[in-house]
Amino acid sequence: MSDGAEALAARLDRVRAGIADASAEAGRDPAAITTIVVTKFHPASLVRQLYDLGVRDFGENRHQDAAPKAAELGEPGLRWHFVGQLQSKKARQVRQYASVIHSVDRESLVDALAGPFAPVDVFLQVDLSGEPGRGGAAPEQLESLAQRVLDTHGLHLLGLMAVAPLGEEPRSAFARVRRASEQLQALDPGATALSMGMSGDYREAILEGATHLRIGTAITGNRPAGG
Ligand SMILES: *Cc1c(COP(=O)(O)O)cnc(C)c1O
Repeated sequence: MSDGAEALAARLDRVRAGIADASAEAGRDPAAITTIVVTKFHPASLVRQLYDLGVRDFGENRHQDAAPKAAELGEPGLRWHFVGQLQSKKARQVRQYASVIHSVDRESLVDALAGPFAPVDVFLQVDLSGEPGRGGAAPEQLESLAQRVLDTHGLHLLGLMAVAPLGEEPRSAFARVRRASEQLQALDPGATALSMGMSGDYREAILEGATHLRIGTAITGNRPAGG
């Protein structure tokens, strides 16, 4: 292995150990937690290295970067998670390679993803910052957005996704998502998944019930320029 490959394997091991520790602390089974490695701004070669290290779930946040990687990498069992803000006019294209879309945040996007296709798994993204333009639906809009998904053919609701805002303890932010998830489950008992936790706060997310972690730099190292 080259130095770069060894360092990558070491970072992946460190994060896996951190996930195991946090799961033990929470009394949870780490096998029930999906770790998505966010490879945005990195080349397809890094995705292939991670695949060879056993990673199967990869996250991207821009269609124009994700599409060529998805076209290049057809490894068996490799799944793409779309985690960035999604324009409605790109929705059909993203749906062609993404197994999971984490950023559904408005009814017009639900409508753009609809169709007579095999259902795509989706998370509703909750905005915890209260700042417009950052992606995510306001907490008070979640119920009507969830109802829209349930009434629409071609989407399967997994649960809620969130990014901890600056200026708030991540654990208290994630606790808010967990409570919103309990309300959502009154509408759809199957929508139990929680996509939350990044490089700096995955421990707190696991303690609050995260089922899908989205981890970039702690595994990939620093992103190339532009990231
Ligand atoms: C980039 C990104 C991540 C990963 O961030 P890191 O801090 O590098 O772990 C997670 N979620 C979303 C939505 C992202 O855009």
